[in-house]
Amino acid sequence: MGVKDKSLPFSLVEIEKLAREHPTPFYIYNEEGIRKSARDLNEAFSWVDGFREYFAVKATPNPHILAILKEEGLGADCSSYSELLLTERAGITGENIMFTSNDTPAAEFQEAKRLSAIINLDDITHISFLEKSAGIPEVVSVRYNPGSLREGNAIIGKPEEAKYGFTRDQIFEGYEILREKGVKRFGLHTMVISNELNPDYFIETAKMLFDLAIEVKEKLGIKTEFINMGGGIGIPYKPEEKPVDLNQISQGIKALYQDKIAATDLHPLRITMECGRVITGPHGYLVSEVLHLKDTYRKYVGLDACMANLMRPGMYGAYHHITVLGKEDEAQGEIYDITGSLCENNDKFAIERALPKVEIGDLVVIHDAGAHGHSMGFNYNGKLRSAEFLQKPDGSFDMIRRAETIEDHFATLNF
Ligand SMILES: *Cc1c(COP(=O)(O)O)cnc(C)c1O
Repeated sequence: MGVKDKSLPFSLVEIEKLAREHPTPFYIYNEEGIRKSARDLNEAFSWVDGFREYFAVKATPNPHILAILKEEGLGADCSSYSELLLTERAGITGENIMFTSNDTPAAEFQEAKRLSAIINLDDITHISFLEKSAGIPEVVSVRYNPGSLREGNAIIGKPEEAKYGFTRDQIFEGYEILREKGVKRFGLHTMVISNELNPDYFIETAKMLFDLAIEVKEKLGIKTEFINMGGGIGIPYKPEEKPVDLNQISQGIKALYQDKIAATDLHPLRITMECGRVITGPHGYLVSEVLHLKDTYRKYVGLDACMANLMRPGMYGAYHHITVLGKEDEAQGEIYDITGSLCENNDKFAIERALPKVEIGDLVVIHDAGAHGHSMGFNYNGKLRSAEFLQKPDGSFDMIRRAETIEDHFATLNF
């Protein structure tokens, strides 16, 4: 038998009941878990005057989730027009919105400006583009790409190959141009890491931004009001991995803050983040039923979910833990590829995974699908996107998005 199975907030009986009323596949998000993650992050940084986590909307773009996070004191990080509208509809407005986009259309800058969101520019040429399309607001943040000064990791790649952000020289030039154009309040952003479990990376990021803010102050006399460390805190997708110790990140950053910033006139420098995955990722589950078993050169378990419901395994080779409901305590005596039905051989949720003996009709749960799961879904092969349920603290399930229908799917066609 392998490592201990990952725990679940619901039972086979509860899911069987839900699946009788609503056909699989579907997503379930656990409200208590999401609230706890949001609180843990806020608590870890409670020493920061004006700490704010802007939840990355693209991770779980559902107004019910955003409303919960708003109650927990989070803002929203948006990167597109529809994410801005969704955020506004969830009641998050003004500087509780960070607009971190790239290759940005004029209409999106106009919308961000209308909402008085904090606009975080991806490129020095976007200063004049923003001025022409929407006008320059009083507060602007700029995204720094450190190039070869930092290493990045597998999901996000090397900074010098990444399309995002200003070079080091452009940060100084950009700040000066922005000041000339009337900007009064400045922010510095970066995001060089994705799904990272090592706390040192985030401490290193804070150091890099503190140093840059200090240099900007010395060279230009401009006081940076906040730094935004981006998202990228990882989650333990594998049962043997441990969650990131948020207090370790926070205490590491605190020591740097006291050393570098506290005694300067940059104090109080606000610290902000825009994490998605660490907030909702561990608290979302994709539930699917076994349709077929196939025994050829390998053994295959065919699900009624496919890569169109969750593309991370196919796209990044990402590990998602899989539980066969009701068989948590059985020996993992079989090796299977767990597949969906797309006409693509990378439509596999797992490759050569040890599982208990699976039968047709079994319900399986794919773990850690709460961020970049449903939202990355697509309609290839005409597959329809699934419903989403919120598991409330009393254990009941609220449908927070219905499943797509054929009518939805055909709605844009002219027959
Ligand atoms: C995707 C993204 C995030 C969120 O990343 P997580 O891995 O979900 O924390 C934050 N900021 C930007 C700019 C992003 O592109």
